[in-house]
Amino acid sequence: MEKLVDNHGREINYLRLAVTDRCNLRCFYCMPEQGIKYVPREDLLRYEEMVRIVELLKNLGVTKLRITGGEPFLRKDMMQFLRMVAATGLEEIHITTNGTLTDPHIPELRELGIKSINLSLDTLDPQRFFSITRRDSFEKVIATFHRLIESGIRTKINMVVMDGKNIEDITPMAGLARDYPVDVRFIEEMPFNGDGSRQDVLPWHHKEIVNVLRSEFPGLEKLPMKPTSTSQMYRVPGFLGRIGVIAAFSRTFCGTCNRIRITPSGVLRTCLYDQGVFNIRDLIRKGASDEQLTAALIQALSHRAKDGFEAEARRAHLPVHESMSTIGG
Ligand code: SAM
Ligand code: SF4
Repeated sequence: MEKLVDNHGREINYLRLAVTDRCNLRCFYCMPEQGIKYVPREDLLRYEEMVRIVELLKNLGVTKLRITGGEPFLRKDMMQFLRMVAATGLEEIHITTNGTLTDPHIPELRELGIKSINLSLDTLDPQRFFSITRRDSFEKVIATFHRLIESGIRTKINMVVMDGKNIEDITPMAGLARDYPVDVRFIEEMPFNGDGSRQDVLPWHHKEIVNVLRSEFPGLEKLPMKPTSTSQMYRVPGFLGRIGVIAAFSRTFCGTCNRIRITPSGVLRTCLYDQGVFNIRDLIRKGASDEQLTAALIQALSHRAKDGFEAEARRAHLPVHESMSTIGG
């Protein structure tokens, strides 16, 4: 089988597919409150197109798919799409969701064998939830969290750590891993908030986050990191789950990156920080054969930046000002 390998010898086996750029929350680190220009519906990849891409990538050795967005469950007939991708026989399907619309689908997600759900939750305080997401959905998300735990689907929590917004939540959020079998992952804030503003010195760098965790939980013990993992995981004796820290801004993990991304409009990105390599939707709609699409995917990996810093430096337009909802995180 032909494999997807980049110009640095890294094998690609993980696709992150953003199925929509729409969202029902307005997390301030991801989207501006107003003035968002959504991709016109006809420009979004159709489900059949996405399934075709998944199948082609599966033939090139991709085993893992993460469905993200925007909010995936906001896209019409999302469950129908999930049935379609599950039928491809791909080894692992994961979903990242804000948990506002997920609850009714949990039994079917389990039946379909969804391997894990990443639930985004940045605080345990309803008012801070409102100030971060600009929406009043805290109770719904917490209820979804409990339903996911009951369902037995592997659950991870993503919390973006933001100066002046939710630092007081680090300890209580880590406490979720004490009380429930969940991995709670603290993510450095990245400059993808849709308005172009960025901080060059990140106040809540991964090392600061670990310092807080260590002072609260002296037994914190670093676990061996999987080579392609973006999160450094920790264990605390007596905890049911684990704690993780993702150095998404510091980019400590690029050397072993095994992932590519496809945006809702079909742009292939070989790095979160690049500006896109080519549009696979355009090729599909021009009638490209499977062989032509496969060749384009292989070619796209032949000039991949070695890390997120190089990818960012190569961009024509700086600073990065996109919304994460168009990239998928
Ligand atoms: N709407 C879904 C959700 O929120 O889980 C999926 C899409 S969201 C863009 C995917 C992940 O990216 C979320 O965990 C979110 O917290 C994270 N994210 C968004 N903007 C970010 C930023 N500027 N820095 C770090 N993480 C970010
Ligand atoms: Fe929506 Fe997720 Fe972005 Fe929040 S992080 S605005 S839930 S896409």
